[in-house]
Amino acid sequence: MNLAGKNLSTKEINALVGGGTYAVIDLDALSHNISAFQTYVGENVRIAVAVKANAYGHGVVPVAMEAIRAGASYLLVARIEEGIQLRLAGITAPILNLGYITPDEMQLALQYNLTLTITQKEQALAAEEAAKILNIKARVHIKVDTGMNRSGTSPEEALPLIQYIDKLNHLELEGLYTHFACADDMEKKASVEQFSKFSTLIEKVKSAGIEIPLIHAANSAATLNFPETHLDMVRIGIASYGLYGSGGVSHAVDLEPILTLNSRIDRIHDLNPGEGVSYGYDFVASQPTRAALVPIGYGDGYQLALSNCGEMLVSGQRAKVLGRICMDQLVIDVTNIKEATCGEPIKIVGQQGDRGISVADLSKLAKISEYSFVTGLSARVPRLYIRNGELIMLTGLNSSSSLRLFNEKLK
Ligand SMILES: *Cc1c(COP(=O)(O)O)cnc(C)c1O
Repeated sequence: MNLAGKNLSTKEINALVGGGTYAVIDLDALSHNISAFQTYVGENVRIAVAVKANAYGHGVVPVAMEAIRAGASYLLVARIEEGIQLRLAGITAPILNLGYITPDEMQLALQYNLTLTITQKEQALAAEEAAKILNIKARVHIKVDTGMNRSGTSPEEALPLIQYIDKLNHLELEGLYTHFACADDMEKKASVEQFSKFSTLIEKVKSAGIEIPLIHAANSAATLNFPETHLDMVRIGIASYGLYGSGGVSHAVDLEPILTLNSRIDRIHDLNPGEGVSYGYDFVASQPTRAALVPIGYGDGYQLALSNCGEMLVSGQRAKVLGRICMDQLVIDVTNIKEATCGEPIKIVGQQGDRGISVADLSKLAKISEYSFVTGLSARVPRLYIRNGELIMLTGLNSSSSLRLFNEKLK
């Protein structure tokens, strides 16, 4: 890895981050994914990037900054606190809050120039009053529930709400959107039904003489599977991070994963047949086994569901998790990997030699979703950010001590 012109060995990186386990977030890959989507949807369709939940675990501030640089015109958050965090980091790009905002929170959201999702008259009225006090025109989007049965206003109530907001002086009705429940299912039926309800509403709004400039519906899966749903803007979350999200999603855009996850071997020891490993002895050796200790656990986001089934790369070969994953560490089987030694680097997600292990692979093994795997990466894991091929930033609990080391290294 290149750091301000210096190539760093794994050993030097380990000295920087401490603890042995670290993630590398490749902002160049993020930028590639967003540009590739822009080419795919065409220049008349805007791209909104979902950065909720700490940018799906990747670290919200650097990801949001790079997404804007790469051409995204909206950032999507789920809570106003997430939007405020981005504003405090100096990000001025439009931010749409997707979640429910209570009437009491309107003023706070507007102080930070967040675009509001509105689903009820009471919210609209509270937003109008807050915007009046602040002497601004507040941007709002109306969310319609066309069949996800989660959040939003019903298609029947949407038009009266739109007409009501259209008459308010301090609200700018910028957007109208819906969200698909089954977009990762190439069997289109449910998505077609939802989209048809949404299209009917769009027609009614037009007939009522109301112009809404940003009408949007598609998440990553719908953007890839159903190009007819692109409308004015697509909302890309998981695919920005280089993941298709599930097996049912078209690979129409060539994505690059932005996350790699790395660790090392801290101990190697031999097990005799009959010896158990880790809490509960969920694994018992049936033959002489060489076990290696790796300092990553569910406290880092390496999910418990990977117990006895997770795999990682050691010397370019797959090694399987033995027994139950602990909070801070786990044990793998290196019986057939003779080269494995203490201190040896391990690839948990990413490429090593000509072998790779992906978030999709691990999600399948653990029977969890790709979303929950990456979003679960905890604050404890140091994250190194690469841009233009160089290390530009390091975050994590160890970052103050690491940054000190970092400076010493630079001398
Ligand atoms: C999270 C979210 C998205 C992004 O979804 P992906 O499947 O990650 O692309 C889009 N729209 C809404 C309303 C969301 O909540």
